[in-house]
Amino acid sequence: MLYQRSSALFKDAQNYIPGGVNSPVRAFKSVGGTPLFIKKAEGAYMMDEDDRSYVDYINSWGPMILGHTHPEVLAATIEQMKNGFSFGTPTELETEIARLITSVVPGIDMVRMVNSGTEACMSAIRLARGYTQRDKIVKFEGCYHGHSDSFLIKAGSGAATFGNPNSPGVTQGTAKDTLLAPYNDLEAVKALFEQNKGEIAAIIIEPIAGNMGCIVPTQAFLQGIRALCTENNALLIFDEVMTGFRQAMGGAQEKLGIDADIVTFGKVIGGGFPVGAFAARKEIMNHLAPLGAVYQAGTLSGNPIAMRAGLTTLTLINNDRELFNRIESTTEILDKAISAIFTEKGIAHRINRLGSMMSVFFTEDEVNNFDDAAKANHDSFNKFFHHLLSHGIYIAPSGYETWFISDAIKSLEVEKTLEAVRSFNL
Ligand SMILES: *Cc1c(COP(=O)(O)O)cnc(C)c1O
Repeated sequence: MLYQRSSALFKDAQNYIPGGVNSPVRAFKSVGGTPLFIKKAEGAYMMDEDDRSYVDYINSWGPMILGHTHPEVLAATIEQMKNGFSFGTPTELETEIARLITSVVPGIDMVRMVNSGTEACMSAIRLARGYTQRDKIVKFEGCYHGHSDSFLIKAGSGAATFGNPNSPGVTQGTAKDTLLAPYNDLEAVKALFEQNKGEIAAIIIEPIAGNMGCIVPTQAFLQGIRALCTENNALLIFDEVMTGFRQAMGGAQEKLGIDADIVTFGKVIGGGFPVGAFAARKEIMNHLAPLGAVYQAGTLSGNPIAMRAGLTTLTLINNDRELFNRIESTTEILDKAISAIFTEKGIAHRINRLGSMMSVFFTEDEVNNFDDAAKANHDSFNKFFHHLLSHGIYIAPSGYETWFISDAIKSLEVEKTLEAVRSFNL
């Protein structure tokens, strides 16, 4: 049996951990079968507890953009650890990482570090509400901004996979302040602003969506919501937890040339450690405690080991001018080759891609929002997933997720991947 030890470990885990996992999508519920229990990873590969190795296209859901266990990040982090694990005081490192982030991300003067993308988005919304003194927010169907109450309304990622995009436990009081529109639908957003005049604090959006599969925004849509925010004195929040330091050093703002008012980060920013951040211009960030009245705090926020891993990762990315082109070109090669193979086999498909994010949908139609993604054939996706897995290729275990291409994936890994795709039949 391929996954013998993983299967036994999964069974055991379910006795002590709900569903055997500490984050739902890891349970493989959407695709079925046994989640891989991983014991180590290096470069482009992860090794499971049955000693099988896999080309990794999940990369911890994005953070490992340089590949696993990058030697420089590893060395810097070990060195940092020798000075202590956590102090609960300011450290010079926090200023260093903040200086780097504010110097490369457009339109921000200040940044506050937190411990996850969820925390970053939750705090960004509170700041936007405090700043505008309004309650309502606009979010898009299928976008995922972490698991805090305001966002679990038609949420993407694991929430979509398990058929409860609206989570029980979110009060109606909270839900009523979250207004919804379909992604890429400017008219729907306009209507929300007309119906809720003077009440909308912010629009929050994944500027390149990745939690309903990869969905690319139209330029007119992003420009349109930017203009609506400006006209209505609402803030535009770009949730760049996935796209930040992946699509460009300045994230989707730089890549697409649209300015947001508040930006949130996670994933790559921590280099594999639990880090998130939110940032904005001074005039907005001044509202945050201890300067202003909007409260936000964290015992482990700015943890020195996480900061060192993040700073080293960001510095490596920033110093490598070709990195984004390289991983984008790997992604393009994969996209075109997979598409050619499927076309030859007569398999209906759409591959959405921007930069180093990509998703394969089994459908003939364009996929521009959550409903389109839901209409794709997810049984076919699940077959594809298991076929790749059994051939040593690890993609996300759901048709509502994105591939994250790392810089460790080279032509050898691409060829292995295409070899596996060639033997796939529906
Ligand atoms: C992953 C993700 C989050 C949540 O981040 P966590 O670190 O899992 O809390 C929020 N927004 C987007 C766009 C994400 O991809």
